[in-house]
Amino acid sequence: MNPTQLPAAQNLRTNLRAEPLGVDTPHPEFDWQLPVGAVRQAAYQVQVSPSEGFDVDLHWDSGRVSTDAIGHVVYGGAPLRSSTRYHWRLRVWCEDEQPTPWASSSFETAKLDATEWRAAWITGAPPQRPDDDEALYFRAVVHLPGQVQSARAYVSALGWYRLFVNGHDLTGPALVPRFTPLQTAVEYQTYDVTAALRPGENVVAIAVGDGRYRGRLGFLGTRCTYGDQLAAMAQIEVFMEDGQSLAVTTDQDWHVGPGRIVGSDPQHGERLDLRIPDDDWLHASRPPDRFRPAQILPDGGRQLIAEEVERVQEVGRLAPVRVWRAPSGRWLVDLGQNISGVLRIRLQGKQGQRVRITHSELLTPEGELDVSWIWHGKKWYQRDEVILSDGSSWVQPWFTIHGFRYVEVEGIEGPLDVEDVQGIVLSSALRPTGSFSCSDERLNKLHRNVGWSLRSNFTDVPTDCPTRERSGWTGDIQVFAPMSTMLVDGQAFLRRYLRSVAWEQLDDGRVPPWIPVGNMPGRSKGIPGWVERHQANSVGWGDVAVMLPWTLYRYYGDRAVLQRQYDSMKRWVDHMARTARKSHVSRYFRKSLGAHEPYLLDTGFHWGEWLRPGENDMDMVVLKVLLKIFGSAPIVATAYFAQSARLLSLVAKELDRPDDESHYQTLSDRARAAWHAAFVRQGGRRIGEDKQDDYVRAIAFDLLTDQERGEAMARLVELVSQAGDHLGTGFLSTAMLLPVLADNGHADLAYRILMQTSKPSWLYQVEHGATTTWETWDGGYDDRGKGKHSHNHYALGSAMAWLQEGIAGLSPLSPGYRRIRVAPCIGGGLTFATASIETPYGRAGSAWRIHGDQVELEVCVPPGSTAEVHTANRIEHVGPGTHAFTWPVASSTASHRAETVAPN
Ligand code: BGC
Repeated sequence: MNPTQLPAAQNLRTNLRAEPLGVDTPHPEFDWQLPVGAVRQAAYQVQVSPSEGFDVDLHWDSGRVSTDAIGHVVYGGAPLRSSTRYHWRLRVWCEDEQPTPWASSSFETAKLDATEWRAAWITGAPPQRPDDDEALYFRAVVHLPGQVQSARAYVSALGWYRLFVNGHDLTGPALVPRFTPLQTAVEYQTYDVTAALRPGENVVAIAVGDGRYRGRLGFLGTRCTYGDQLAAMAQIEVFMEDGQSLAVTTDQDWHVGPGRIVGSDPQHGERLDLRIPDDDWLHASRPPDRFRPAQILPDGGRQLIAEEVERVQEVGRLAPVRVWRAPSGRWLVDLGQNISGVLRIRLQGKQGQRVRITHSELLTPEGELDVSWIWHGKKWYQRDEVILSDGSSWVQPWFTIHGFRYVEVEGIEGPLDVEDVQGIVLSSALRPTGSFSCSDERLNKLHRNVGWSLRSNFTDVPTDCPTRERSGWTGDIQVFAPMSTMLVDGQAFLRRYLRSVAWEQLDDGRVPPWIPVGNMPGRSKGIPGWVERHQANSVGWGDVAVMLPWTLYRYYGDRAVLQRQYDSMKRWVDHMARTARKSHVSRYFRKSLGAHEPYLLDTGFHWGEWLRPGENDMDMVVLKVLLKIFGSAPIVATAYFAQSARLLSLVAKELDRPDDESHYQTLSDRARAAWHAAFVRQGGRRIGEDKQDDYVRAIAFDLLTDQERGEAMARLVELVSQAGDHLGTGFLSTAMLLPVLADNGHADLAYRILMQTSKPSWLYQVEHGATTTWETWDGGYDDRGKGKHSHNHYALGSAMAWLQEGIAGLSPLSPGYRRIRVAPCIGGGLTFATASIETPYGRAGSAWRIHGDQVELEVCVPPGSTAEVHTANRIEHVGPGTHAFTWPVASSTASHRAETVAPN
């Protein structure tokens, strides 16, 4: 290598993961980052082969492809074989004539063809009672004739499972298979079981609990959504050192029986009987007497799909900050942090003694556990129960997960010590990518709180909260996704969610309110089915079908997701267009909009802005929902119609579909004109119901003329001032409020809202001890001091994207940060702020500090990217590397930024 030659490219990934096992896509996708020191890629070359030396059997050679686009390369070679390890290598040409040295990586395929499955679904006897929630334990003895060279287990379950080989727990707290539309598709995991197997006798065992398959789901806590019989499926393929191979599959030779987990439910908790042995099924040559031969369960026509995302894992372990006896005499534990996870506890007592462990986010003013949110009908949410045997043992539930900071332990005699308890934090193990800090510790705490709410709700599917519904609410992730990209690499995680969105979209294009939705599409009977289908109409929620792929494109440069979701996006926008053509009764009582009428979306159910401060929708939620069903929300709905149609037109352009591009742009223009005719008065001085969000939405979605925009801004500023510099927005517009103000000359006001400490504000929560973000602005406690609403919803935390994009001023100027904008907002009394983000190109950063009368800014640009840096009065363009800028503080007040940054 000559001294100036660049090193090899780095961070090679297949299907967005490093060296994954169990890939089932016939055309995997390859990504990389340029080496440090590179400025721009001129060309790349990829080769793929099952041989590590690439000397024989080259399956694909892309040849030298001239492009400066990095990654997103789709395999284009000979068909891949199942269960095979493939190596791939890559070199790039940058400024030099010389290519970089090869960088290599690998991936292993799983089952590419459904006919390769030999394993059957096995189960136990049909449940005796409708509320049967006992776990099932399966096992088989496997004899191996010699040393194992390599072995893979492909495993799945109807329910949540753990796989054991010779007593080794290979799954841990992963809560797999993940939640997919289980009537359509169920995931399998691939395990490397080489080291766990040995010559001679081996015991393979699988424990299965209710999970999302049979356990309680959603607001109503309905059980048995997908079926009432738990089942397991495993195919273990073993290659011996002597060249022989054999497969072990689940069949009638396996045995099944009950065990320690006498009941488990994802929401309601786990019941454990320690008097039942926990290892006889794991090790012994013969099954325990209580076991019977397994039975075959018909496969139900479900597709088996490989996992594509990091599993849920223990991502942290917290020691309690306090353990004490409550006035009631029960023991209380405070973890000091609201989390999603489970408690690990050492229990000691007498044989048969019952211990109840109840988890909650809050305490009452009297110092007891606040259970107002965890008592559901006649059942307890979030309560584990343990029947003790003699002696002491550590206990940790397997098939449940709770949202909590406090735990009450009831039924123990002796003292409980800090050393006896640990909070196990469970979350999808997504790679952290972003960081923010500044001179105001309260904002840093707020940023951490948003991170904890992400961690708590990115378990398996993105959920609303980890305590109550735990449902994949579409609106919540629609608004939060941009912020999530500034905390973790959630690209694969959100892609997977979108695939389920497309699967569950109704035939007419409506999007169920939460995904996976359960059996809603087929549920034509009953009030719940009716309400759910109506909710599937709501803008802001259903727009997840368009806005979430757009977010992935904007922040990760993910063009593939636009292609995959394109049909789903169109179906949603076409549905809005059809609904707009229908007439709402109110049309007959007002002045006609003439030609605009068919584009005003004034029919159907819409949540609307949802949970503005003071509206307290959650308190009378049923009544509010009914009113919304009949009332509609045309000002919100038509704005989203215009915005999603516009985004879809941009997507069509990116995908080179000119007819769609112009069709959806025209549709958007018409919706915009209809919205305008119906809701804009006094040249923009009054819009709709004259609420803050009416103006925010209008400006963010670009629904106004330049002149009206000025008037609307003036009115928005007036409304915020009238509210004493408080925000007045709810779920949908809160994330847009601060950028709308800052990008239009009012960064000082954005700062005042952000720094507000009285209700409604984020810092009110921080100053009142919040460790996660709350569901409502009025949340916390009611007048009697009882806990109110969820304390771990991320939706209102979505606005903290402004910490990175506004305060530190670091945002993508073109998809995936290929071009970066650095436009810091100096103000708010801050003396420094710094943000960094692992972009697809590598680390980008912006850090400013006030030094004397100067602002000092340091900008970091990753290889292959460029940045447009906005300093006092200038815009400078820089390439990869670290760059410093200074300018006088005096020329850099927060509101000054508007002169240098074009609106939106
Ligand atoms: C959930 C949400 C959801 C909302 C619908 C609530 O019960 O927790 O976060 O988006 O309903 O408005």
